[in-house]
Amino acid sequence: MNLHSLFAERFGGEPTVVLRSPGRVNLIGEHVDYNDGFVLPMAVSMQTDMVLRPRDDRKVVLYSPIFDSQMEFSLDAIEKQGTWIDFAQAVAFVLHNDGVELTGFEGVVWSNVPLASGLSSSASFEVAVALAFLELAKADKSAAEVALLCQKAENQFIGVNCGIMDQMAVAACEKDHALLLDCRDLSMQQVPFQLKDHAIVVVDSDAPRELASSAYNARRTQCEQGLALLQQWYPEAKSLRDITPDQLALHSGALPEEVAKRVAHVVGEIARTEEAVEALKSGDLAKFGRKMNESHASLRDLYEVTSFELDFLTDWARKQPGVLGSRMTGAGFGGCTVTLVEKDKADELIQRLIHDYAIATDRQARGWVCEAQEGAEILG
Ligand code: ADP
Ligand code: MG
Repeated sequence: MNLHSLFAERFGGEPTVVLRSPGRVNLIGEHVDYNDGFVLPMAVSMQTDMVLRPRDDRKVVLYSPIFDSQMEFSLDAIEKQGTWIDFAQAVAFVLHNDGVELTGFEGVVWSNVPLASGLSSSASFEVAVALAFLELAKADKSAAEVALLCQKAENQFIGVNCGIMDQMAVAACEKDHALLLDCRDLSMQQVPFQLKDHAIVVVDSDAPRELASSAYNARRTQCEQGLALLQQWYPEAKSLRDITPDQLALHSGALPEEVAKRVAHVVGEIARTEEAVEALKSGDLAKFGRKMNESHASLRDLYEVTSFELDFLTDWARKQPGVLGSRMTGAGFGGCTVTLVEKDKADELIQRLIHDYAIATDRQARGWVCEAQEGAEILG
């Protein structure tokens, strides 16, 4: 897609700012962000591209070739419109409240991050818009500050109660690294993830995610119940992060059965994510892959947030030559899987998977071979 020629057709002349902002996938550490755990996302190859030029009438005018739709709003009258432009308005709203001097602009925004598939197209778009405003304001903010503002935009303006992982990954990831994010204090560590002979394959299951939000709320409540009960023995524990697998083993019999399973997933997954990071640091990709498989099994058997589709995709992948590990990623039920596979087998894996999955489910999967990309950045 040539955004410069689209810009010239719509607005005439040349844009003055060019930027990109990736989607993200979580490699391991699932359903632990709200328990103060660790997550390990990386920026994927699918991204939002945006070109723009400032205007002097305090309007933001954006053309989206993916929706073939041009939308606008005034910086002096930010109100929900019920369309995709709300994500840009949300960012303007929080940046203004944060004291950033906003300038209007016109631009073209394109993306090949699949929408609503769990690869954070919304965070990718938000961070892109934030970088645009900050560039025009010549305001300097760290990636973490940008991420926190965009999370606030989604929480307060869009009304989606997301955690910080998506925006942080989009804004702060580095090329050839995964981002180890400690959800307790938001401290971050760049973990080298330059895969010479391997690649990450992301597969969109095309399965409905409706169940995910009610299950998500139910799981959160069960985690709170589990913590409250465990605090009888461990009053110093502020979250499930503070409970070790050994401590849980001593008392899990005292928890209601389902709560015990949920807590076992969380406590196990937090420990597993740390082990997976150690495996990466020591170059043991086979072990990293095993941790991915264990994570999926735990999400399936203990947290019970997988589905026929996600189990099919990951079981199928694990049986293929060159696959080191495969798991669901995101909230569950629908969305995507993530698979670590030998690079030269990745394309064929995707093609055959799409074929067999369509026969088993009547659904059209899509797959991408990804390497860890740089987070959002101004290109010029
Ligand atoms: P995801 O898991 O992909 O973040 P969401 O439901 O949170 O799914 O966000 C998807 C919505 O974000 C889209 O329906 C659209 O309104 C908006 N969006 C994402 N990317 C873009 C884009 N490049 N241009 C316009 N709107 C976008
Ligand atoms: Mg989103």
